[in-house]
Formats: sequence, structure tokens, C-alpha cells
Amino acid sequence: MQGLVQGVGFRPFIYQIAHRYQIKGCVYNITEGVIIKVEGDSENISRFISEIKNNHPQAAEIVSISLEDARYEGYDEFQIKKSNDSSNLVSEISPDIATCEDCLEDLKQQKHRVNYPFINCTNCGPRFSIVKDFPYDRVNTTMDEFPMCEKCESEYKEILDRRFHAQPVACNDCGPKYTLHYPEKKIEIIEEILVELKRILEEGGIISIKGLGGFHIMCDATNEKAVERLRNSKKREGKPFAVMFSGIDAIQKFAYVSDIEEKSLLSWKRPINLLKAKKNKLAESVCLGFDTIGAFLPYMPIHYLLFEKLDIDALVLTSGNISEEPIITDNEDALKILARISDAVLTYNREIYNRTDDSVIKIINDSEQVLRRSRGYAPNPVYLKNKTEGIFAAGAELVNCFCIGKGNQAILSQHIGDLKNYETFDFYKKAFKTFKKVFRFEPQLVVTDLHPDYLSTHFGEELNKEAIKVQHHHAHIASCMVENELYEPVIGLSFDGTGLGDDKTIWGSEFLIADLDGYERKFHFEYIELPGGDKATYEPWRIAVSNLYRIYGKEFLDFKLDFLKNIPNSQVSLILHAIDKKINCPASCSAGRLFDAVSALLNVCTLSSFHAEAPMRLEAIASEEIKGFYDFEIKNYVSFKPMIQQIISDLRDGIKKEVISSKFHNTVVEAIFKVTNKIKIETGINKIALSGGTFQNRYLLEKLETMFSKSGYEVFTQNKIPCNDGGIALGQLAIAANMFKV
Ligand code: ZN
Ligand code: ZN
Ligand code: FE
Repeated sequence: MQGLVQGVGFRPFIYQIAHRYQIKGCVYNITEGVIIKVEGDSENISRFISEIKNNHPQAAEIVSISLEDARYEGYDEFQIKKSNDSSNLVSEISPDIATCEDCLEDLKQQKHRVNYPFINCTNCGPRFSIVKDFPYDRVNTTMDEFPMCEKCESEYKEILDRRFHAQPVACNDCGPKYTLHYPEKKIEIIEEILVELKRILEEGGIISIKGLGGFHIMCDATNEKAVERLRNSKKREGKPFAVMFSGIDAIQKFAYVSDIEEKSLLSWKRPINLLKAKKNKLAESVCLGFDTIGAFLPYMPIHYLLFEKLDIDALVLTSGNISEEPIITDNEDALKILARISDAVLTYNREIYNRTDDSVIKIINDSEQVLRRSRGYAPNPVYLKNKTEGIFAAGAELVNCFCIGKGNQAILSQHIGDLKNYETFDFYKKAFKTFKKVFRFEPQLVVTDLHPDYLSTHFGEELNKEAIKVQHHHAHIASCMVENELYEPVIGLSFDGTGLGDDKTIWGSEFLIADLDGYERKFHFEYIELPGGDKATYEPWRIAVSNLYRIYGKEFLDFKLDFLKNIPNSQVSLILHAIDKKINCPASCSAGRLFDAVSALLNVCTLSSFHAEAPMRLEAIASEEIKGFYDFEIKNYVSFKPMIQQIISDLRDGIKKEVISSKFHNTVVEAIFKVTNKIKIETGINKIALSGGTFQNRYLLEKLETMFSKSGYEVFTQNKIPCNDGGIALGQLAIAANMFKV
């Protein structure tokens, strides 16, 4: 049997139904899945099989079941066999699983668990976030401090119980407990805590609350004053907040939910879904002018208990951190740091061992695209064709994840973040230590990005001076390839914000012919100077100026463009001077920077307060209904000079920004399509792999995928693995594994 069937209560489930149907034999894990040997009455066996198909635990994803006759062994009983192969050990640890329906029932009526906010069973509850060591047993989790009471222990040992072998099993008598902290007092009784939470939230207050993988800060998402106060205290200017809703109905008041989105929202992974917002608005400060809402549903018992009490059905539930630091996981830190910005802090007395953020996904062309991969997803492995054992891939810099190899699996870490932040890099190092321990991993081969200054590169080189270097965009494409089990050459379209090229320039609009052995760079966009280097990424107006200067010389200063009205002339002159003298003006062909430039030109975003804000705001105003596009030239690179000229003339004619943005997006689609066709004619390759942060743009990806498919291409995108730099480590690891394949 193949699929995600390990560490999700699958073997106990098999054990139970074998018992029910009086079947003897055994179940054990192999690298590719699970083997079940059965002996018994043939009718019972077929019932047993249909039970597996129809009633398996929610987190088990069965890909295929194949049946084979085997030799009669004469088993006396049914056993769960331990696996001996170390490469299988990794599969034992499942991601955290949202509270299941059965537990929600028990929460109301099971005597020792009425209102017990840590209720869980074999099919649900914390997993990865509480694991400290291998193997996955209670003593190796942060539940080790809570000895089971007699009742829990009997359930844990009873084969036919839903809590049979549920490692975090607990109840009101023996398990972890919440404490609500005020500056002057504490409350420890759950019913009283809920009354207080209701009071504070409905009065517009702010509460920090310990979640599964870290703290959240919450407030009423419809109360503008509360949200604004939260935003100011978090020092988070422009990024939309995630909102937890009481249910699908509540979401539908504020956002459109397709069937596929509904399924994803309700899945045991409970990711944040980026949904299209309706006119009916949440508080202004939640989404800050974006047309999407980051929505998710309750996944811990406390969330359900709380919504049951509340008259509010939408709560901002944003990560419990200040600015860009990692989310806080520790009670003491929360009481020190988060207490300052909240009216009360809700902690519990079980440690969070592995920090996990809420995962973020988007549905594009009817399939899930994971943008931030953490809770519910990590540490599920990707299976590769080649042996991966002992390979450590350090990842990139921004939205970093690292990746380790076990057997033929690639295990991506949870979302780490931007390594330039000191605390985040610390998290990276700690997470690596934990992975070494929990997965019994020893790095023998290290692979890093080509960029010599990434902290991940330094870290990798410290582990191994001979670390293999992989070009950033090649890694993006390799990541997409192995996720889709592609091993033959593809046309790799790798578009993003930045990545060091093998010619030492900044790449980011790559048309590659690639496989795991290597790549050939066929085309890219035109290079544009970035005045101020890195600074230009936070000040997109600089890139707009750079584009204009290249086309018009100083003449553009007379165009009276809106976006320049708030930029002092002296600053503009300084930049023109820098470009003339080539002072800190690296050239880049990055697609992200092209989006930045146009976003600034339209005065949509001239200064960005978070990563990729300018392209996101530009996408937000584009409309499918507008079909036209601008001109571009294909030389041995793609030049958008004609497009910029036409945009300027549209702007001067007073054409609406929405129209210009749509036509700009269509132009990029058109250009990518045309160039790809050229490459196809030349090479005969018909498979396209798309990766890189630019493809988080729904407008762009949907159009491209549709156009390519209609023209007979086979198109492959990233779904379970982020197409942004969070997926880079997988590509690095796949390329290294391929170099040393046996
Ligand atoms: Zn459960
Ligand atoms: Zn108990
Ligand atoms: Fe990238």
C-alpha cells in the first residue's frame, strides 16, 4: 500500500480492524509505504480491505493498494512489526493534525474530557511540534512530563479504543492545562478562562494565545480599533493579517469559497487559504487594501471552545512575534514580550519543541499551491528516485527551509524565515540540530546555493568545506521536477526576485533547458541597473527611475509622473548620478524587479514595507476581463522597452491603473509564451517546469498554464512544495543526490 500511511495512526487502525475481523498476520512499514500480511476467512479479508479503503484515519492518504497472494505462514495473532531499516525510521513522525470530529464529540460528553482543551486521539492532535527524539513514543515528546492517569493508560493500551497508542493521550486529570495571565492575577480553570477571553475580545481587547507550533495574537477581526492597535504594536505596517473564522459559513460572509477551497480549509492540515474577498469588509486594517483574505478554520480544541462562547465569528490570529522575528514558542518569552502588547496572555504548561508556523496555501487552477509550508505539512517527505541518505541541503536566504536526505526521501524542514534576521538564523541552527536527532541524520554531503554571502551557504561550508554549489534557478526547476517525478530534460521557466547566476550577475527570469545533471540558459529578460542594490528591493521607485532613465535619459523628469511627486528631486538626481558612475548599481534581469518597476510607475507601490509587496499590489488590481497587451522585443534576451514606453503614454493619457496592470501582466504572459515556443521549436522539448516566487502570482500562473496546456505542452508546477525559495533546498538536494547516484 502506498501513500502517507505512516505515523498517522494507520498501523493501530489496521491492528484494530484485523482484530475486529479475526484476521491474523502482521503490518510493517517499508520505504514506499506499508505491507500488510493477512490470514483468515476470505469474506472477512475482503471486509477488512474495504474497511481500509473507506474508514482509514483522516490524515492517512492512500495512493494505491495492491493485492498479492503470499505463502501461508500460520500466524497466531496480528502484530505491528517494528521496522529494522534505518531509512524507514523517518516516516514515523507525522505533521500535526487538526482535532478530529470524534474528539469534538468527546469534548462535550466524555466524562474525564468535558471541555478538555488538549483532547486528542490516534487520528488527531499534536505530532511534529512535540517530538524531541526518536522513536515517536510519549517519552520522546514534550508529553513526557505528564504521566497518564489510569483511565488514559487503559485507553492507550486497549486495542479497540480510538486512543490506542495515541502518544499525546491526556485528560482533565492528567494532561496539560491552560493558564490565563494578567499583570496582577492568573486564572487556571478552563471554564473561567473562556468567560474572560470572551469578555476581553468582545470589548475590543488583544490576547496572546499559545497555539500548536507557537503563540498567536488575536483580536476581533471586525473591530477596526482593536486591529489597528494590534498592527501598531506588532510593528507590521503593510502585511495582511490571517483571520480564523468559526466555520465555512462565517468565511462566506467575507470571502468567496470554491468547493476546492472549502475542502482545503476543512482538511486535517487546516492551512491558511488566500481567498478572494467579498465587498462585505472585515476591519480595514486586516487586509490593508488587498483583495484577498488569509482565512483558516479552528484546529485546536481551544479554538472550538472559544468560538462556541463568542458572539464574534472572525478573529485575527496572527503570529505571535514582533516585526520579522520567529514566532514565540516559550511561555517566559511570551510573558515578557507579548504581554506588553496584549491585555492578557494565555499559556499552557506543555513545551512546544518544534516551532511551526501556520501554513499558507492558494488554490490556483484547481490545485493547492503551498506558499508557506509548516504546520500540517512538515516533515512529510518527498520521495526521490535516487538515494538521498546523508545529504544536507542548506537552502537559500529568504523564506528559508533546509532539507535532509534519508533513504530515498527528501525531508524539508518547516518554514524557517529570513536568515538575515539574527533570531531566525538561530532558529535555523536549532532546527537543524533537532532534525539530526529526531531523524538520526548525520550530514555526509552538503549542498548550498551559489551565493557566497547567504548565511545558509556559510553554515553549509562550516559543515563541509567541499560543499557542492547549486545555481539558484536550477535548484528551483529541480525542485519542481522531483516534486512531479520528472527526470528527463524540461524547459525550465524560473522567475523570481533574485538569485546569483553562474556569470556572477543577478538572475531571475530564466528560460532554461534543464535536468538534474545540469542546465543551459537559453533566454532571460533584459538587464536593468538596480540603484542602491538591495535597497532597490524596498524602494521600487528606484527601479522605475532606472528603467525610465535607460529609455528617455533625463527627459522623463518633465513627464510629471505621479509616482515621483513624493520623491525629493535631490534623491532622484543622486540615483541618476549613481547610475552614470556605476556606483552600487548592480544589473539584474529579475522578473520580480520588473514587477516592482511597473508597480512603482503606476504609483501603486513606491516603497514596500514587506517582501514582494509591490508585485502583490500590482496583481491585486489586475482584472481578467482586460485582454490587450503591450509590445516587447525578442533579441537574444527579451526587452520590455516598448512596453514601458506604451505604459508611460497610457499613464499620460489618463488610462486607469487597473487596465495598465492587466495589460502588463498579459505582456509578461505573452513574452514567456513566445520565447518558450521558440525553445520548443529548437529543442523539441514539450515538458515545461515552472518555478520561482513570481509564480505565486495567480493571474500570471493561471494564464500561462492555460495557454501552454491549450498548445499541447505538458505543464508542471509546484503544489506541495513552495515555488518560492522555501522549495530551493529540495532542488539542491535532488541535484546532489543525482551527482552521486548509485
Ligand atoms: Zn481525535
Ligand atoms: Zn488522563
Ligand atoms: Fe528564488
